[in-house]
Amino acid sequence: MLNKKTVDDIQVKGKRVLVRCDFNVPMKDGVITDENRIVAALPTIKKLIADGGKVILCSHLGKPKNGPEEKFSLAPVAKRLSELLGQEVVFADDDNVVGEKAKAAVAAMKDGDVVLLQNTRFRKEETKNGEEFSKELASLCDIYVNDAFGAAHRAHCSTVGVTQFVDTAVVGYLMEKEINFLGNAVNNPVRPFVAILGGSKVSDKINVINNLLNKVDTLIIGGGMAYTFMKAQGYEIGKSLLEEDKIDYAKEMMAKAEEKGVKLLLPVDNMVSKEFNNDAPFRVCEGNLEPDEMALDIGPKTQKMYAEALADAKTVVWNGPMGVFEMSNFAKGTIAIAQALADLKDATTIIGGGDSAAAVNQLGFGDKMTHISTGGGASLEFLEGKDLPGVVAVNDK
Ligand code: ADP
Ligand code: MG
Repeated sequence: MLNKKTVDDIQVKGKRVLVRCDFNVPMKDGVITDENRIVAALPTIKKLIADGGKVILCSHLGKPKNGPEEKFSLAPVAKRLSELLGQEVVFADDDNVVGEKAKAAVAAMKDGDVVLLQNTRFRKEETKNGEEFSKELASLCDIYVNDAFGAAHRAHCSTVGVTQFVDTAVVGYLMEKEINFLGNAVNNPVRPFVAILGGSKVSDKINVINNLLNKVDTLIIGGGMAYTFMKAQGYEIGKSLLEEDKIDYAKEMMAKAEEKGVKLLLPVDNMVSKEFNNDAPFRVCEGNLEPDEMALDIGPKTQKMYAEALADAKTVVWNGPMGVFEMSNFAKGTIAIAQALADLKDATTIIGGGDSAAAVNQLGFGDKMTHISTGGGASLEFLEGKDLPGVVAVNDK
């Protein structure tokens, strides 16, 4: 399906292999709070070690604005990675990323060794895709592997620029898996194909809605963005999230669904409260809200309707929680959808989006889904039908 060379197409024995990973993990006080992205990178790393490559890893972490900063150091990742691999990961703690320290660490590598470079964004040129830093990265290696799906939608030195200065550039297993799951679902779905969109804003997902309406049999809308649609239907939505300037767009999308024969489902009832607060009183509300109320989750009738619409689905793509799942009183809609997906017998269920992935994992449904994407922004751009620069840049098959 993916027409790009992968780590299965290369010989790495004795070669220096630079692997761009996505180790952009959430951290609190220097402690990794979710290691999914590190775990997801292991298959490629293990294969390269087993084949006798010299495995040089790089990644960005967070958004350091002014060069090197301790709190954006990849040191905690090196430590955790070393535990997960059961072998030493040499951390090249080099503020220049590819400075003397990093070069020395790479020069000392034996076959099967692993070195992790410092946060690529410690170099300001990284996000500008500048030639100089791209060349420096390329000079460290004989072969380049991009396995950072979560960063594939960005054209940066470590994801795109570097490929101009190496002869061999391929994708890793995680990248291959992400593209194949998302690509098959969107472009070659087993039907019925249902997409569920939620989350906070219509404006974040305009192109996703538009693109998916060309592909799906049913589009389910929940979360904060549903209320701009309800407003477009003529309902009073009180203080619920509203994007005034997207009301016309919502109307257009409803018309497009009708024209394409896509079933577009919107909430018929909601959990509403006067405050954005888990401890405030709340009620089920059908139709119009009072002016001082806001909708924070889909209601029980809507949950049932959505679950029924999912019951015969064979392919499901879900992006965006159905409500403010971070508050227990408003997590029920998201739980109901997760449960409906978990109950599907032979369907492919794919979760894209950072908060959606967090919600599904946090609510205990992680192992019930076919695939949870590691890329928030990247999976959205993919669902918009865009090419990902990090993927385009590597060698074709
Ligand atoms: P993703 O990261 O999966 O793409 P988004 O970032 O678009 O998802 O949206 C996630 C956020 O949307 C969550 O923090 C959630 O609390 C918020 N949200 C969902 N429903 C509502 C609502 N009805 N009102 C306000 N915020 C909401
Ligand atoms: Mg988000």
